Amino acid sequence: MQALTNRAKPVDRRPMTFMEKIYLPAIAKGMGITLKHIFQKKETVRYPEQKRPFSPVFRGLHVLNRDAEGRENCTACGLCAVACPAEAITMEAAERKPGEENLYREEKYAARYEINMLRCIFCGFCEEACPKDAIYLTETFAPAHYKREGFIYGKKDLLVPMPGEKK
Ligand code: SF4
Ligand code: SF4
Repeated sequence: MQALTNRAKPVDRRPMTFMEKIYLPAIAKGMGITLKHIFQKKETVRYPEQKRPFSPVFRGLHVLNRDAEGRENCTACGLCAVACPAEAITMEAAERKPGEENLYREEKYAARYEINMLRCIFCGFCEEACPKDAIYLTETFAPAHYKREGFIYGKKDLLVPMPGEKK
């Protein structure tokens, strides 16, 4: 819209001078600008080898926490899904069976827990809504994928691994 309202700069149609025809002054001027920038403080970083520090309020990928005994904190209450403005969280609750007390903290647990990172706006409302300190947003951001399915994070991707367990 701005381009339509601004009057375009008139085209310079005068014949080129000898100095303009040999291009050397223009090349030297360009090299001068390049040299000037070589010695200036760089605004860019060599990512991914070099990373900028995150802001203290940065919110990245989610994790599902375990308690001190390694049991899943999440009790599938659904409050995080209700609080999510992007409807990015999907879950299915299940009842704990006898003998599973070392896996799940309470009688109910999330048999399925998924976050669609393409929908998520990393607002942190799920973390705030959780009464069990089960879900946290970390300082890791979602890596790139070639397919949409790669952005659907299931429970195995989100759960904090047990000590010695590899993801
Ligand atoms: S961070 Fe916000 S958008 Fe993302 S899952 Fe949590 S509540 Fe939903
Ligand atoms: S993560 Fe928290 S709020 Fe969400 S279902 Fe589990 S216990 Fe409830």
